[in-house]
Amino acid sequence: MTKPYADREIWFFTGSQDLYGEETLRQVAEQSQEVARTLDASSDVPATVVWKPVLKDAGAIRRAMLDANADDRVLGVVTWMHTFSPAKMWIGGLDALRKPLLHLHTQANVELPWDTIDFDFMNLNQAAHGDREYAYIATRLGVARTTVVGHASNPAVTARIGAWTRAAAGWAATHELRLARFGDNMRNVAVTEGDKTEAELRFGVSVNTWGVNDLVEAVAAVDDARVDSLVLEYENLYDVAPELRKDGDRHESLRYAARQEIALETFLESVGAKAFTTNFEDLGDLRQLPGIAVQRLMSKGYGFGAEGDWKTAVLVRAAKVMGEGLPGGASLMEDYTYDLTPGHERILGAHMLEVCPSLTTSKPRVEIHPLGIGGKEDPVRMVFDADPGVGVVVSLADMRDRFRLTANVVDVVAPTAPLPHLPVARAVWEPRPDFATSAESWLTAGGAHHTVLSTGAGVDAFEIFADIAGTELLVIDESTTRRGFRDQVRWNQAYYRLAQGL
Ligand code: MN
Repeated sequence: MTKPYADREIWFFTGSQDLYGEETLRQVAEQSQEVARTLDASSDVPATVVWKPVLKDAGAIRRAMLDANADDRVLGVVTWMHTFSPAKMWIGGLDALRKPLLHLHTQANVELPWDTIDFDFMNLNQAAHGDREYAYIATRLGVARTTVVGHASNPAVTARIGAWTRAAAGWAATHELRLARFGDNMRNVAVTEGDKTEAELRFGVSVNTWGVNDLVEAVAAVDDARVDSLVLEYENLYDVAPELRKDGDRHESLRYAARQEIALETFLESVGAKAFTTNFEDLGDLRQLPGIAVQRLMSKGYGFGAEGDWKTAVLVRAAKVMGEGLPGGASLMEDYTYDLTPGHERILGAHMLEVCPSLTTSKPRVEIHPLGIGGKEDPVRMVFDADPGVGVVVSLADMRDRFRLTANVVDVVAPTAPLPHLPVARAVWEPRPDFATSAESWLTAGGAHHTVLSTGAGVDAFEIFADIAGTELLVIDESTTRRGFRDQVRWNQAYYRLAQGL
């Protein structure tokens, strides 16, 4: 099985010190290699785990961390103090580390050998206090990290290391991300605004704008033969409406949509962008608002936000990367309208056109319908229902002095009844813990109306991503209460201001 991030590495560092002598250090090396091998062999861990020689002094520790920083393959580092490793030796290294850190609090053995245990065993298996010494200094230095406790063979341990690896991959992805905006925000909309300069420091993403005419030119430059073959691909992959097919009277609209897809992808590749935004108020000479083009690009892994919403585009891209190789998908989503039937409240999520087909395992239909706003030709779009299952909706809002992530764990369900007249792809969900608590909490948090709906990467990965990014995350899930959530928002206001310093 190929790992989703087979070309990316997790470096496994084991702490010790010289005074144990050669024999013990040989065992430390062997046993830590065994732990690294176990993690690497786990299908939960989506990157290659690379064992590194045991670290025994401050110089080697600092050098190891600097090497991890400098190597672009490295997503993050795992540390484990198999024996006691006096933690003043770790100050320089931890201070220098710029990659995500996981502290694995484990032990070589599962059971204690009660009958045979002697002091040699005690001398070798000291993580119970060695890791406490190490964690003290990490906490004292304020080093952001994820702590995972348990034996490497425990599925709960590998699952959590897997979530951390995915978060670290998301972190790497936002740092490698260039985001192209076609036009600016939808006029007068508040939550889609934000500090792009701060985002580059916080998440590493470079957000820049191009005039929509650059895209118009790219559309005009698309070769007809490429349009022919993409239209064939649509007809093979999807259930294309008869009027859009080769002899249908609206076939030209499908060809134009295909032209837009090719132009968008070519343009994004030419500027090195893996995420983008559009704005229906600013389409220049484009004949349609891009629908199927955007849907298909999202399914290829591009981040996308509508109405100039670059922050949601960043989240969609991060969710795509964090969910690689998992069942499910990720898409721009918008809380659109409610079913308020008491006890059966549901949210119907959709967008004007742009919902990613990675949310469904069914065959999308390709249709054309008028769009009430924008004043352009009817756009072509894929229509489907998102698959039932657990998901998470996440928004990113600019709170003036910082960014806030808000997440709600939801159960995507089959629509209550077929939606024969709804001309867009959609997801229907029941938010946890219940509709009223979820919506009240979301509104209290000031979460956005645009989100990423992720049914691949789960809330755990987003939580760790937020920790790595030093960014606030408010989670609404089965354990949320109104009172607790309101207090959390208030306390966070104070905490995140203090934590930033002056
Ligand atoms: Mn919208």
